[in-house]
Amino acid sequence: MTKIYCARWVLPVSSGPIRDGAVAVEGTRVAGVGARAEVSERFPSAVVEELGEAALLPGFVNCHTHLELTAMRGFLEPEEGDFFAWLRKVTASRNERMTGEDLYVSAAWGAVEAVRAGVTCVGDASDAGATTMKALRDAGLRGVVYQEAFGPDARVVAEQYDKAREKIERLRSGETALVTLGLSPHSPYTVAPPLLEKLARYALDEKLPLMMHAAESEAEQALMTEGGGVFAMAYALRGFSFDSPRTTTVRHLADAGVLDTRPLLAHCVRVDEGDIDLLKEFGAGVAHCPKSNAKLGHGRAPLAKMLGAGVNVGLGSDSVASNNVCDLLEESRFALLASRAALETVGGERMLDAQDALRLATRGGASAMNIRHITGALEEGLEADLVAVRLDAAHQTPAYDPASTLVFSSSGRDVLLTVVAGREVFRDGRVTTVDEDELRARVLETVRRLTA
Ligand SMILES: [Zn+2]
Repeated sequence: MTKIYCARWVLPVSSGPIRDGAVAVEGTRVAGVGARAEVSERFPSAVVEELGEAALLPGFVNCHTHLELTAMRGFLEPEEGDFFAWLRKVTASRNERMTGEDLYVSAAWGAVEAVRAGVTCVGDASDAGATTMKALRDAGLRGVVYQEAFGPDARVVAEQYDKAREKIERLRSGETALVTLGLSPHSPYTVAPPLLEKLARYALDEKLPLMMHAAESEAEQALMTEGGGVFAMAYALRGFSFDSPRTTTVRHLADAGVLDTRPLLAHCVRVDEGDIDLLKEFGAGVAHCPKSNAKLGHGRAPLAKMLGAGVNVGLGSDSVASNNVCDLLEESRFALLASRAALETVGGERMLDAQDALRLATRGGASAMNIRHITGALEEGLEADLVAVRLDAAHQTPAYDPASTLVFSSSGRDVLLTVVAGREVFRDGRVTTVDEDELRARVLETVRRLTA
């Protein structure tokens, strides 16, 4: 069966906006994009859905999430001024207070929030990979789940490496056409350099996509460049020392072979021009997380510079514990305004506009995740991942230009319809794949355990 979605505007992102446009969907794929009359003529027997005063665009690609932490929305704010204490509380709460069932419920609720906000694909960093993969499958969401690996103590590299490999091998059976597996050595400060080298080699050999937190905090920078700071002190207290690479994070990742995997790097706040050149040279992707970086006081990544250098940049909400929402329209607005507020144009960069912001939220994310041949634009042959956003609410009217209205006046709460691989996962105000009322009750149970 062919279905045609018609709307006042179609924004394919990879080409210009179409007034009174239509998108034809056949099976899991986009079969045609164009003016309504033209598309209707091509598919005369198709079922037609009229979306009215709305914009149809590629589904949002949220390329950095931690869905299993959704139950911690607003839970860590007392620790926000101290990144080390913040990290410790996340880890301790997840490992000691949340059961496997809690992690599933938390991830599933995160998936519900995502599809409600028009997100069709996530790049999710997960400690409980199998659980998160199930949550994505149940919600009908597309995603790469990057199983996390840790190990700052270089004395136990072999054990940690074997553990990571075993985990990955067990997870392979949970892969589907929509939900696939990746590997995430957690960060340069939680993975000892020799372990990082082995994991990068493994990812390359196994053709596993690799994602890593990189160049996020001042504490990380102190450990990388001079072997000092709060992480070095904490490791010394635990009885081992971390062999600092004494260079920037990005140069360290180049030396360790991580950049050879064309990784997805979350944050990249603390990068200099040499680092940006390396990111471009190796084809690394960046998950830009401007709200999380601001909320945790880490600063702001040089977005316009990275884009100007031709780096593949997408947007990530990060976990809702540091955001506190998974909403890529809001994230794109914040990215754009923060770039302009920082006077990024003064360094000679072009001022970013609403089209740039929408590209970041869609095609940029797909490029950063190396899946641009699958999703991220409305193009014949790509997967039918799309979202319809209303344009006629009070806060959007008048809407002179659809891209500006979407980026500057809209949010995920204006989403009318979310389609993943041709399947409608959110419509008429309800998620179609999950019993939201039942799940909400289970989330509250999880919260009771978390705060007990
Ligand atoms: Zn993260």
